[in-house]
Amino acid sequence: MKFYNLKHPEQEVSFSQAVRQGLGKNQGLFFPRQLPEFDDIESLLAMPLVERSIKILYPFVEDDLTLEQFTSIVTNAFNFPALVQSIDEKNAVLELFHGPTLAFKDFGGRFMAQCLQTFTKDSREKITILTATSGDTGAAVAHAFYGLDNIDVTILYPKGKISLLQEKMFTTLGGNISTLSVDGSFDDCQGLVKQSFDDLELAQAIGLNSANSINISRLLAQICYYFEAAAQLYRQRGKFDDLVFSIPSGNFGNLTAGMLAKAMGLPIKRFIAATNANDTVPRYLQTGAWQPNDTIATMSNAMDVSKPNNWPRVEHMLNSGIVDKNCLSSVAIDEEQTQMGIHSLNSLGYISEPHASVAYKALKYGLNDDEFGVFLGTAHPAKFKETVESTLGCLLGLPKELADCSGETILSSEMNVDFQQLRSYLLAQVN
Ligand SMILES: *Cc1c(COP(=O)(O)O)cnc(C)c1O
Repeated sequence: MKFYNLKHPEQEVSFSQAVRQGLGKNQGLFFPRQLPEFDDIESLLAMPLVERSIKILYPFVEDDLTLEQFTSIVTNAFNFPALVQSIDEKNAVLELFHGPTLAFKDFGGRFMAQCLQTFTKDSREKITILTATSGDTGAAVAHAFYGLDNIDVTILYPKGKISLLQEKMFTTLGGNISTLSVDGSFDDCQGLVKQSFDDLELAQAIGLNSANSINISRLLAQICYYFEAAAQLYRQRGKFDDLVFSIPSGNFGNLTAGMLAKAMGLPIKRFIAATNANDTVPRYLQTGAWQPNDTIATMSNAMDVSKPNNWPRVEHMLNSGIVDKNCLSSVAIDEEQTQMGIHSLNSLGYISEPHASVAYKALKYGLNDDEFGVFLGTAHPAKFKETVESTLGCLLGLPKELADCSGETILSSEMNVDFQQLRSYLLAQVN
């Protein structure tokens, strides 16, 4: 299967090129030329996660990977479950936080890492992943690439501006994972990453790649857990054609993957894209005007995005009829409602965190009688320990993944906001 640039449809690349390049000409996003469609959904749903995921994704990658290679990629990437938990008769949560860094980004991050490693093993080229993080992404990327041959990872983060536990989750690994504590803000870190990509000589010399959420491989991986949710609910309820997914959205990668699943034949009834106060999309769907405001800090901070970078893919699917326009609505949930959602869920016996709560609240506004609501649990509550504890007035225990790294030593080097310093550092890594 080929992937084409949504901005320049004549630019067409293979899966491996799309994974390595990330973006096309003029910052255009890659999109599959065709989508595989499956008729016999019931027999797909009867399969275990890994076997089913290989079956639904292989058509996308078959030009570049043998079935044997792809089987090992998916088996290594999806080595933890996605779990549906019942909330009440009309609602369930799809828990996506049972991976090594306790957030759904483990699915896409691990899949991308395994793909890249397979491609570089053959060509023996060196790849450097450079990424800036304000918390979650750094951990998912670091763990996904840790220990892989031929791939070095450098992660920049603002010194003193992330929690100690967050910092320990990605700075204590060592090996091929280097971390730089930058004396500046998150925007400074992102600026340094951008300068590195603009420096074509450097980019070429170190095989620069960003591993960020616009990479098509991350989205393909995320298609699989929509099928998995339907499979588990079918087993529990005997039906799966009335599902409404409510998705806590920041860059809208999760929504894109859900729409792809629907286009491939999974009969998802519709989607609710739930945002926090960063409500560019709900306003856009209402007024038709794309007017991003300044980004606002909220307690669901992984969704503090006012210019969602996957939106062109969503818009393409709506405008080209790949999915029906009526199947998407979007709503913004404020901080007070987010806290109320955490309380309501707690009174139903479920401890949640701000991102999932936003999605839960959005379902409360829009579910019809003949529908069943599924909201995505994108992070483990312990990752947002302070907020959850202060909202509920109780103490949370630390899951093993967080407890394990809390006693380890931080291995970061310190750096100023100085591109030449970063440049020399990166070049020294590969030589
Ligand atoms: C990244 C993230 C989101 C937003 O997902 P998108 O695919 O960017 O819309 C939501 N919740 C958590 C916990 C995240 O880390």
